[in-house]
Amino acid sequence: MPEGDTIHAAARRVGAVLVGKEIVAIETPQARHAMDRWPERLAGRPVLSVDAHGKHLFMRFDGELTLHSHLRMGGMWGVYPAGKRWSRGRHRAWLVLRTSEAEVVQFDGPVLELMTESRTRFDARLAALGPDILAPELDEARFLTRLREDDPTRGIGDALLDQRNIAGIGNVWKSEGCFDACVDPWRRTAEVTDEDALRIVRGTRIRMQESVSLGGHIRGLRVYDRSGRPCPRCDTRIRARGQGDDNRTTYWCPGCQR
Ligand SMILES: [Zn+2]
Repeated sequence: MPEGDTIHAAARRVGAVLVGKEIVAIETPQARHAMDRWPERLAGRPVLSVDAHGKHLFMRFDGELTLHSHLRMGGMWGVYPAGKRWSRGRHRAWLVLRTSEAEVVQFDGPVLELMTESRTRFDARLAALGPDILAPELDEARFLTRLREDDPTRGIGDALLDQRNIAGIGNVWKSEGCFDACVDPWRRTAEVTDEDALRIVRGTRIRMQESVSLGGHIRGLRVYDRSGRPCPRCDTRIRARGQGDDNRTTYWCPGCQR
């Protein structure tokens, strides 16, 4: 599942080929969007910016129109030189934007909507999002406020996945972030100090920034998907178990994470 680093990297790639370029064609091949008239509404409008907040991507067009996308479990953004073969089948494309040099394609995108700027600003789902872990300045105070308003019996690993506490962390970074900070993901947030909570998000932010700079490529995973293998820090066997209401797998070392 794409996490915040993947989406931020995609926003950079998409922005690099669309901002300041003439969009020569927009297509919405899925039947679901056939009546939406996006190609007509967006015709002739330049893309002003492409940005991300958590796992959400926003493509802002001139005239106060914004395309909002969330990839959920399996979607992706592809950027290709014009005429080059795509990495997924044509029938899976939801949105295609063409310039004379490039094609930008959103595949398998369950959330794709065209909103006015004011609706984007007042959308309840977006307003509920916690601070973006990859924002230029991490709003640590707001993260702590949200965390402390949340259920204190919740494990910290589960709380980190909740996009209302902090936006952008998914299953990979939840496990890696707790490991890096030596915090047991099962520890109740009531017993996680502000200092511990901040150590987790600061460390996670650095690793996610590195991933963005590598185009969304994650390097050097230490516990994620390594169940049964020795901990790189203490040699104890890494464990895996479903956590939270959604039972998302958490990986951790019972030897050195407290
Ligand atoms: Zn260990």
